[in-house]
Amino acid sequence: MKTTNLILSSFLFASSVFASEFSTTALIRDDNHNPKVDTVTLTDLESTEAFDGKYFKIVKGKEETAVKFNADEQLRLRAATTYFHLMKARNFFVDVVKADYVANFPKMTIRIEHSNQFSELGHFTNDAYEPQFNNALSIPAGRGYAPRNVAPWGAEIWFRPSKKIHINDLKVNNLGTQEFSVLMASFRNQIHMQSLNKFLTNVIVSVTDEASEVKPFSSESLIRTVGASLMLELGFRAVDPVTKALSRKWYWLDTAMVPEIIYHEYAHIALSDKLVLSHSTAIIEGMADFFAGQIADSPTLAKGIKQYNVYNGKSAKRKQNYMTEFEMTEYANTDFVFGLLWEMKKIVGEDRGVAFMYELRNNLTTNSSIRNELIEGLLKSCDDMCSSPFNDRISILKALNHKGI
Ligand SMILES: [Zn+2]
Repeated sequence: MKTTNLILSSFLFASSVFASEFSTTALIRDDNHNPKVDTVTLTDLESTEAFDGKYFKIVKGKEETAVKFNADEQLRLRAATTYFHLMKARNFFVDVVKADYVANFPKMTIRIEHSNQFSELGHFTNDAYEPQFNNALSIPAGRGYAPRNVAPWGAEIWFRPSKKIHINDLKVNNLGTQEFSVLMASFRNQIHMQSLNKFLTNVIVSVTDEASEVKPFSSESLIRTVGASLMLELGFRAVDPVTKALSRKWYWLDTAMVPEIIYHEYAHIALSDKLVLSHSTAIIEGMADFFAGQIADSPTLAKGIKQYNVYNGKSAKRKQNYMTEFEMTEYANTDFVFGLLWEMKKIVGEDRGVAFMYELRNNLTTNSSIRNELIEGLLKSCDDMCSSPFNDRISILKALNHKGI
């Protein structure tokens, strides 16, 4: 009897200790969309001491064991922030979008503070090879390479360490004297896209320590960037959200601390049944940004997107129509698609907009172009998803025509 009681009580003790939830602090957005560190509850954990859950395991760099709850504060905060927002993004795709692909997606390894480049054969490149900073990317699953002891891996998301870059190293004329918000606004409205492209590329790149020299054409920065300029702008730190220190001279992108970038990367995974992770295009980035914006669900952000949409917004200083060159210029492209999809949601209706965009991925491929497949895809999705396809198709065509497509 005594033994039974002991066994029973230790069993009860064990199950109460095994918490699937854990309260901790993470970076979130307040009602005005400003970043703040606040207490959150992490759900679906499988460990009582580390960021290891049913759907996500957060590791540091190339490690395979999860970051511990008692890791140093810098690492803990990034692990908690990525875990919390990844769960939010997953719940959105499972509960709101009703995506079976996402519901059944295997548990993912998420790497933070990870600077190695991706290798299709080896998973990671050698440590000495061009470490990456200020970026994030989603990688496809790989079969591994037994002769070199490379184990197979599933799809992963990698968050690069942040690295401060002095404004003088950005090598874009006359920026040092301007406040960041003014700077971005002037880029969007007056200065041509080439300058914005150059600015962003300069920040999202690897910087070699020894020469302190900016390498604007890192392969990764050209192939994979974290979406449209507005979404990137949300992440640039003129004010550090943790220390509140103000700096107009230093820019960096701490991707594991930017909710919208976490949503963007997860959206790539959620759409990867149709839009494979092999490379990124304007359409793929615009789609990921659309869902990131939906998950963020912020009126402040929505207002920002509306104002920022220089291609058709009422407050746009310059109306920009579609040009064939857009198919070639990375950032203009992504911004264009993002603004276009945001507008399309209004046409098909707020209530069915998310389902419409999720359906749209069925009518696109990784190689779709804006002028052909995206337009056809929008019309085809409307046939299946719009409440009154005939009228809504006309509205879509009108809106596209207004944009010069
Ligand atoms: Zn992306």
